Amino acid sequence: MAPTVTPIEGLTLGAVVTDVDLANLDEPAWRAVEEAFLTHAALVFPGQHLSDADQVAFGKRFGEIEVLREGQEGVQISNQKPDGSVMKPDEFRFKALRGNEGWHLDSTYMPLAAKAGLLSALVVPPEGGETELADMRAGYDSLDEVTKARIEDLSAYHSLYASQAKIGYTVETGTAYGYHDKGAPLRPLVKIHPVTGRKVLCIGRHTYRIPGMEDDEALALLDDLLEGAAQPPRVYTHEWTVGDLLIWDNRCVLHRARPYDFSEARVLQATRIAGDPASELAPTGRDDRASGFNPSSVNR
Ligand code: MN
Repeated sequence: MAPTVTPIEGLTLGAVVTDVDLANLDEPAWRAVEEAFLTHAALVFPGQHLSDADQVAFGKRFGEIEVLREGQEGVQISNQKPDGSVMKPDEFRFKALRGNEGWHLDSTYMPLAAKAGLLSALVVPPEGGETELADMRAGYDSLDEVTKARIEDLSAYHSLYASQAKIGYTVETGTAYGYHDKGAPLRPLVKIHPVTGRKVLCIGRHTYRIPGMEDDEALALLDDLLEGAAQPPRVYTHEWTVGDLLIWDNRCVLHRARPYDFSEARVLQATRIAGDPASELAPTGRDDRASGFNPSSVNR
């Protein structure tokens, strides 16, 4: 059975892949999936209903799993508690969850950024709660020449403290996954995709400071780049059906969750693929203002 790859019409990214069973993937089918992943940067696999173990096994085709919680290769992104009730909006973990509603790349605030993200749907709310993906290859291509020249040699610090502070959520240093205590990773704004060689905008909510630029100017530039790039036809909106599996290339695709009625449950199974250190490892700057980050400097 050869997979059928149908590009999503009218968009610069995304394809729907059918005629494939991800739990029983032979080598030719895997090669077709990998090629489609590199070409379309995001793939939708409807009706897979993978077990957690099968999702992890499929993820391992792409690379090593990034362990988000000790001893677990996959985690649930969920507002549902073990007793079946949903979190209240003022609960600590719920605030962390709502951070996912800002456009971002996964793990760019860690020294080693992620290669890819996988999500599958276990429980979906009746309305809303979509996952959106934005193509930063096409985002870069859409820039005018003046902007391309302006950002060519710039880099930005990425920090989960900074991004959470932007939404009024402050966490103590080193208290949870991703909250660095050794200074923030510094990444070029224009990244070269390690496989396709395409230029990609490396931006999103975790960026907050550009060396050599005043903070106000840097935040305005980062906001403008994001605002301009994450627009049609570069955005795919995935409306979840239970059993879907979605994968995106985190080296060139931003993602975000859309809001929903928070009294409804939404449970997604997440697997993150670690980046190749040859291309996804960033130097960690001694940016002292990043640890002990002052939220007021970005709360605008
Ligand atoms: Mn994410």
